[in-house]
Amino acid sequence: MQYQIPKGLFDILPYSKEEWTISSKWHYLEKIIKKLSIDYNYEEIRTPIFEKTELFTRGVGESSDIVHKELYTFLDKAKREMSLRPEGTASIMRAFIENSLLQERKTHKFFYIGPMFRYDRPQAGRYRQHHQFGVEVIGEKCVEIDFEIIDLLLNLFKRLELKNLKLLINSVGDLESRENYKNALLKYLKPYFNNLSEDSKMRFESNPLRILDSKDLNDIKIVENAPSILEFLSEGSKTHFDNLLALLKKAKIEFEVNPKLVRGLDYYDDVVFEVVSNDLGAQSSLGGGGRYGTLLKNLGGPNLSGVGFACGMERILQLMVKQNVFFPKKNYPFVYIIPMGEKAKEYSIFLTRELRNHFIPTEIDLHVSKLQKALAYASKIEAANVLIIGDEELEKQKFSFKNLETRNQEELSLENIKIEIQKKYLKYKERHA
Ligand code: AMP
Repeated sequence: MQYQIPKGLFDILPYSKEEWTISSKWHYLEKIIKKLSIDYNYEEIRTPIFEKTELFTRGVGESSDIVHKELYTFLDKAKREMSLRPEGTASIMRAFIENSLLQERKTHKFFYIGPMFRYDRPQAGRYRQHHQFGVEVIGEKCVEIDFEIIDLLLNLFKRLELKNLKLLINSVGDLESRENYKNALLKYLKPYFNNLSEDSKMRFESNPLRILDSKDLNDIKIVENAPSILEFLSEGSKTHFDNLLALLKKAKIEFEVNPKLVRGLDYYDDVVFEVVSNDLGAQSSLGGGGRYGTLLKNLGGPNLSGVGFACGMERILQLMVKQNVFFPKKNYPFVYIIPMGEKAKEYSIFLTRELRNHFIPTEIDLHVSKLQKALAYASKIEAANVLIIGDEELEKQKFSFKNLETRNQEELSLENIKIEIQKKYLKYKERHA
């Protein structure tokens, strides 16, 4: 019997025809993310991949799709209802409150990387397990922080050399603005109620703003002329939004204000934003986020505002592959040892061990039949160099060391072989840092 991976999942593999699933590419993305986070002074937070279901229904909101329709819920052996996390923010707020982190810093700046789970219809760019990189800032209401996280997200894409992206931005206002707007929106939608999609009919009561976000073509037509939320912003929300746009303009960051952008989660207020790419097909959103003023309080924590974003690592890697951006070469093994003969093999095993102990990535071919074949294999696995050790060379105490990239070949003597290889490796590391 052959087992198959459940629908909507994928493997991340050391080698694969599907380039975006190659683990060394994921490592590169993770490396860039971690350095970027350090540059902006964000510290890593890791929370469990499952929590009590209640946290998500209360935190993310019952009317959001990811809780209402897409939650992976199960009963544990004590019949407690648990769910795989569909997003990161609710768990981070829980951890923040539970571990009393409040006193530790003036402002809390976290980043996270990890898998999220959503029972959605799988398609290109949409999976039942996907990975997100996200940040959250807690305890800072000022507009400069909204600016900082937008800049951070765009800087990630810049460091990855992604092109043709669009920043969409909107304000969904504070509670007061939204209440006023909801009334106006419901009044506008009422005559069209019977023509709305089933989902939107449900949202009419529970969360009418989400109707603006509907992907249903008929709904899109209906909301085309709906009133704009930007006309209903309270004084405070309007100033906050205007100040943010002014900062973006000063920084020469291009954006498009889209009054229909409300995003899928219930907890946002004031600024929301999204980065999209036309190169991604139907699932065009690379990442997005916004401000949440009441989430922490709703979860039993202090009355502090937060702001954050999450972006999808699968889509980022898919776009990187599509746009043919630079990926560093996998830099191991640095030495591929090819022993030609029994004595040479025994010597090579111990040399391999010693090189590894000196932190030099090394592999040994344990079954050499023909030199040509061994060389071809070394190229295939992307080894940087080969070291050929024959019984005869062992006696002469001279080995041939070949750089597979430059094809440059030289003789190394047994005496200083380790030092020579170490020197070469240090140089190589400098070039491939
Ligand atoms: P969201 O929490 O829905 O705003 O998602 C944040 C980002 O995660 C999106 O912009 C996507 O890039 C990515 N994402 C969300 N859901 C999925 C999914 N089912 N499969 C792959 N990526 C996803």
